[in-house]
Amino acid sequence: MSDIDGRAVAKALRAEVAEAAARLRAEGTAPLLAVVVPTDDEGTAWYVRSIKKAAEKEGIDCRVEHLKDPGKDEIVAKLQELSADPAVHGVICQTPLPQGVQLAEVGRHIDPIKDIDGANATNLGRLGAGLRTWAPATAAAVLELLKHEDLTLEGARAVVVGRSTVVGKPAALLLLNESATVTVCHSRTKDLAAICREADVLVAAVGRAGMIGADFVKPGATVIDVGTNPTEDGGLVGDVDYDAVAPIAGRLTPVPGGVGPVTTALLLRHTVQAAELSKTHR
Ligand code: NAP
Repeated sequence: MSDIDGRAVAKALRAEVAEAAARLRAEGTAPLLAVVVPTDDEGTAWYVRSIKKAAEKEGIDCRVEHLKDPGKDEIVAKLQELSADPAVHGVICQTPLPQGVQLAEVGRHIDPIKDIDGANATNLGRLGAGLRTWAPATAAAVLELLKHEDLTLEGARAVVVGRSTVVGKPAALLLLNESATVTVCHSRTKDLAAICREADVLVAAVGRAGMIGADFVKPGATVIDVGTNPTEDGGLVGDVDYDAVAPIAGRLTPVPGGVGPVTTALLLRHTVQAAELSKTHR
């Protein structure tokens, strides 16, 4: 089994981003990513700081807008304000959201052309229609990692475990757009392990530490572990039981060091792409 090295993929992506950002700056456009943070949860704050640090390292300005105990209207107003600001190229609404507020509800107020993390249902619809768009960065990271491997997605059996709007569904659509034969599983799926065992490409996006065991994996399969589950000692583990699956899988993403760094790199790539587009869409 070989590990799929997300850090190496992210490094190469970020080098391209840095070049694109420098080119844009030389032409008079300073790429700017705005992140709306509607929670004061420490895990989220840490994640947002890491995005800001990564953005600034690659030449992208990053504006973090912390909202204190906001209601839906305040979040919507901020997303509309940022969408209307010509200096802003990419807008993210960070989750978790306050209780009772759905990402799809507020996400539709992000201008689709600045919606670099695919929160606006218009962009999810475009993905479903096979049109060019920004998929949510985590789902896009799944495909990016697969494309760096020497494997054929066309006709491959792909199984995605998880059907959330931010990860499972868009990952399934991206795989379908590559002509994989895709099955989407969720909490009501019967015989989950047997379905997973049919997969040439297995994507785990559940949020349950180690639930994908050896009996879920076909020998030689490529396994992408999206899960990030905190451990008691402050670490992070995936949805895949790494030690049990590693001897069976052909390729496997580690957690950390798999999907996470590529997700961040793609948020940056989408931002420079949006900055590029802003020159023709003003
Ligand atoms: P989510 O919204 O909670 O969705 C979880 C999905 O898993 C749901 O579709 C749920 O089914 C399904 N599920 C739950 N228990 C199951 C079971 N026993 N068997 C089969 N399916 C089950 O989570 P999410 O936002 O998609 O995130 C999934 C994981 O990815 C989490 O660990 C999250 O932290 C991680 N994540 C990582 C990144 C990254 O950059 N690495 C980014 C985002 C998320 P139902 O729909 O039937 O409830």
